[in-house]
Amino acid sequence: MSIEQRIKRLGELKSDDEIVRKLNLEVQKRPAIANLFSYLKDADIDFKTVINRNTWTSKLGRDTHSVDLGIQPIPQHIKEKALFLEHKFSDEDTIIYRYLHELSHALYQHFASKVDFVDLNQDFLEFAQKMNDENGYNLSTLPSLPAYHQDGLTGALEDIAELLAMRLYSEEYFNQYMEMLQKDTSNKRELKLHTLNKQETEFVKSYVEKFIDLASKAKYTRPQKLTRIY
Ligand SMILES: [Zn+2]
Repeated sequence: MSIEQRIKRLGELKSDDEIVRKLNLEVQKRPAIANLFSYLKDADIDFKTVINRNTWTSKLGRDTHSVDLGIQPIPQHIKEKALFLEHKFSDEDTIIYRYLHELSHALYQHFASKVDFVDLNQDFLEFAQKMNDENGYNLSTLPSLPAYHQDGLTGALEDIAELLAMRLYSEEYFNQYMEMLQKDTSNKRELKLHTLNKQETEFVKSYVEKFIDLASKAKYTRPQKLTRIY
């Protein structure tokens, strides 16, 4: 099946521009993403999403002003490991989900250092890094995939983006994931996932909810021009 056929359900789309337009409409149903786009616009940042038909991998540009979005289907063996409840995801769903993951990196890059977010993020980043240091176990399956570096900070930032993406994808999906994290299931060892206690679970949930709430409201403020007084 050709790629064009595979993405047919995105709406019989032909050009990359049409795909981007359609995907942007979908992700902007989340107030935090709609706000990210208007924030970047206010900051005179021309955010670009580039469709890549040759890969399934995606990444946020180094300057955080672009997303390179691969629209090939994820190979099944990786999908099974990387995506919780993978059987519920069509190829189109995985594209939207991966786009939300990259946009979550962008949310973090643009908002985490803003005043309202600082305390929240310092505490959580510390926790997520600690969670990434123990025997290669993590809060999501991403840091243990071969494509990712294993150091604590990189892993923690992947986990944060993934947790935000899950919540942005759907509240029900995120809550189901958090329930799974609390259970000591047999595949946890293979997936390199921690089993969280109630307090840790609440901490993760409250962080994600708070971050997304703040991200839905964060406004761009233009740096004030300094006036020369002498
Ligand atoms: Zn990532």
